[in-house]
Amino acid sequence: MPSFVNPEKCDGCKALDKTACQYVCPNDLMMLNPDLMKAYNREPEMCWECYNCVKICPTQAVEIRGYADFVPLGATVTPLRSTDSILWTVKFRNGSLKRFKFPIRTTPEGEAKPDGGFAVQDDINSNALYSEPEALGLDEVATL
Ligand code: SF4
Ligand code: SF4
Repeated sequence: MPSFVNPEKCDGCKALDKTACQYVCPNDLMMLNPDLMKAYNREPEMCWECYNCVKICPTQAVEIRGYADFVPLGATVTPLRSTDSILWTVKFRNGSLKRFKFPIRTTPEGEAKPDGGFAVQDDINSNALYSEPEALGLDEVATL
Protein backbone atom coordinates (compact mmCIF):
# COMPACT_ATOMS: atom_id res chain seq x y z
CA MET A 1 0.00 0.00 0.00
CA PRO A 2 1.37 3.46 -0.86
CA SER A 3 1.78 6.22 1.67
CA PHE A 4 -1.12 8.58 2.31
CA VAL A 5 -1.40 11.84 4.22
CA ASN A 6 -3.82 12.25 7.10
CA PRO A 7 -5.05 15.84 6.51
CA GLU A 8 -6.05 16.24 10.15
CA LYS A 9 -2.39 15.91 11.20
CA CYS A 10 -0.60 17.63 8.26
CA ASP A 11 0.26 21.30 8.83
CA GLY A 12 1.96 21.77 5.45
CA CYS A 13 5.29 22.03 7.26
CA LYS A 14 4.27 25.52 8.31
CA ALA A 15 4.68 27.01 4.81
CA LEU A 16 8.40 26.31 4.36
CA ASP A 17 9.72 26.60 0.78
CA LYS A 18 9.59 22.84 0.42
CA THR A 19 7.90 20.45 2.81
CA ALA A 20 9.87 17.68 4.50
CA CYS A 21 7.98 14.98 2.60
CA GLN A 22 8.61 16.74 -0.74
CA TYR A 23 12.28 17.07 0.08
CA VAL A 24 12.80 13.43 0.99
CA CYS A 25 10.71 11.49 -1.56
CA PRO A 26 13.10 9.80 -4.02
CA ASN A 27 10.26 9.49 -6.53
CA ASP A 28 9.12 13.14 -6.32
CA LEU A 29 5.57 12.09 -5.44
CA MET A 30 4.63 14.30 -2.53
CA MET A 31 2.92 17.58 -3.39
CA LEU A 32 1.58 20.44 -1.31
CA ASN A 33 -1.84 21.97 -1.92
CA PRO A 34 -0.98 25.62 -1.13
CA ASP A 35 -4.62 26.62 -0.65
CA LEU A 36 -5.31 23.96 1.96
CA MET A 37 -1.67 23.71 3.20
CA LYS A 38 -1.98 19.95 3.07
CA ALA A 39 0.37 17.50 1.38
CA TYR A 40 -0.74 14.55 -0.73
CA ASN A 41 0.76 11.65 -2.66
CA ARG A 42 0.11 12.59 -6.30
CA GLU A 43 0.83 9.17 -7.86
CA PRO A 44 0.10 6.45 -5.29
CA GLU A 45 0.69 3.68 -7.82
CA MET A 46 4.26 4.94 -8.32
CA CYS A 47 5.06 4.84 -4.59
CA TRP A 48 7.55 2.11 -3.76
CA GLU A 49 6.80 2.32 -0.03
CA CYS A 50 10.29 3.30 1.02
CA TYR A 51 8.90 4.92 4.21
CA ASN A 52 11.08 8.04 3.85
CA CYS A 53 8.13 10.43 3.98
CA VAL A 54 6.57 8.41 6.79
CA LYS A 55 9.70 8.68 8.92
CA ILE A 56 10.55 12.33 8.22
CA CYS A 57 7.12 13.90 8.79
CA PRO A 58 7.34 15.94 12.01
CA THR A 59 3.63 15.54 12.77
CA GLN A 60 3.28 11.81 12.00
CA ALA A 61 0.77 12.74 9.29
CA VAL A 62 1.97 10.25 6.69
CA GLU A 63 0.70 6.73 7.14
CA ILE A 64 1.26 3.52 5.28
CA ARG A 65 -0.22 0.08 5.50
CA GLY A 66 2.67 -2.21 6.22
CA TYR A 67 3.81 -5.20 4.19
CA ALA A 68 2.27 -8.51 5.24
CA ASP A 69 5.67 -9.82 6.33
CA PHE A 70 6.06 -6.85 8.68
CA VAL A 71 2.60 -6.49 10.28
CA PRO A 72 -0.68 -8.37 9.68
CA LEU A 73 -2.70 -7.18 6.67
CA GLY A 74 -4.71 -4.05 7.36
CA ALA A 75 -2.51 -2.77 10.16
CA THR A 76 -1.02 0.73 9.99
CA VAL A 77 2.46 1.63 11.22
CA THR A 78 3.56 5.04 12.45
CA PRO A 79 7.14 5.91 13.37
CA LEU A 80 8.33 8.53 15.86
CA ARG A 81 12.01 9.43 15.52
CA SER A 82 14.28 10.78 18.23
CA THR A 83 17.99 11.54 17.99
CA ASP A 84 19.04 8.00 18.86
CA SER A 85 16.01 5.74 18.42
CA ILE A 86 12.81 5.15 16.50
CA LEU A 87 9.50 4.11 18.02
CA TRP A 88 7.08 2.23 15.76
CA THR A 89 3.41 2.16 16.69
CA VAL A 90 1.42 -0.61 15.03
CA LYS A 91 -2.35 -0.27 14.97
CA PHE A 92 -4.12 -3.53 14.19
CA ARG A 93 -7.46 -3.90 12.42
CA ASN A 94 -9.19 -4.59 15.73
CA GLY A 95 -7.89 -1.27 17.07
CA SER A 96 -5.30 -2.70 19.44
CA LEU A 97 -1.87 -1.04 19.59
CA LYS A 98 1.67 -2.32 20.02
CA ARG A 99 4.83 -0.22 20.21
CA PHE A 100 8.42 -1.23 19.39
CA LYS A 101 11.47 0.93 20.07
CA PHE A 102 14.84 0.39 18.37
CA PRO A 103 18.21 2.18 18.56
CA ILE A 104 19.13 3.71 15.18
CA ARG A 105 22.69 4.99 15.57
CA THR A 106 25.96 4.42 17.39
CA THR A 107 27.46 7.88 16.76
CA PRO A 108 26.06 11.17 18.06
CA GLU A 109 23.74 12.97 15.64
CA GLY A 110 25.65 15.11 13.16
CA GLU A 111 28.99 13.37 13.75
CA ALA A 112 28.85 10.50 11.24
CA LYS A 113 31.65 10.74 8.66
CA PRO A 114 30.26 10.21 5.14
CA ASP A 115 33.64 9.04 3.85
CA GLY A 116 34.24 6.77 6.85
CA GLY A 117 37.66 8.37 7.29
CA PHE A 118 38.99 6.84 4.05
CA ALA A 119 40.85 8.77 1.40
CA VAL A 120 38.18 9.30 -1.24
CA GLN A 121 38.13 8.88 -4.98
CA ASP A 122 37.46 12.23 -6.66
CA ASP A 123 38.13 11.28 -10.28
CA ILE A 124 34.65 10.91 -11.78
CA ASN A 125 36.06 8.93 -14.73
CA SER A 126 37.76 6.35 -12.52
CA ASN A 127 36.48 2.77 -12.38
CA ALA A 128 37.01 2.78 -8.62
CA LEU A 129 34.15 3.42 -6.22
CA TYR A 130 34.10 6.33 -3.77
CA SER A 131 36.38 4.94 -1.06
CA GLU A 132 38.39 2.58 -3.28
CA PRO A 133 41.15 1.51 -3.44
CA GLU A 134 41.95 2.33 0.21
CA ALA A 135 38.76 0.74 1.59
CA LEU A 136 39.77 -2.52 -0.12
CA GLY A 137 43.26 -2.37 1.37
CA LEU A 138 44.76 -2.05 -2.13
CA ASP A 139 47.09 0.42 -3.77
CA GLU A 140 44.96 0.46 -6.90
CA VAL A 141 41.82 -1.19 -8.29
CA ALA A 142 42.40 -3.76 -11.02
CA THR A 143 40.71 -2.84 -14.32
CA LEU A 144 40.28 -4.63 -17.63
FE1 SF4 B 1 2.44 17.55 5.97
FE2 SF4 B 1 4.17 15.88 7.15
FE3 SF4 B 1 4.44 16.48 4.54
FE4 SF4 B 1 5.01 18.33 6.40
S1 SF4 B 1 6.10 16.37 6.08
S2 SF4 B 1 3.78 18.65 4.52
S3 SF4 B 1 3.46 17.88 7.97
S4 SF4 B 1 2.71 15.36 5.48
FE1 SF4 C 1 7.87 8.76 -1.84
FE2 SF4 C 1 8.79 6.71 -0.39
FE3 SF4 C 1 6.85 8.28 0.57
FE4 SF4 C 1 6.32 6.60 -1.42
S1 SF4 C 1 6.92 6.03 0.69
S2 SF4 C 1 5.69 8.77 -1.31
S3 SF4 C 1 8.25 6.66 -2.59
S4 SF4 C 1 8.97 8.91 0.13
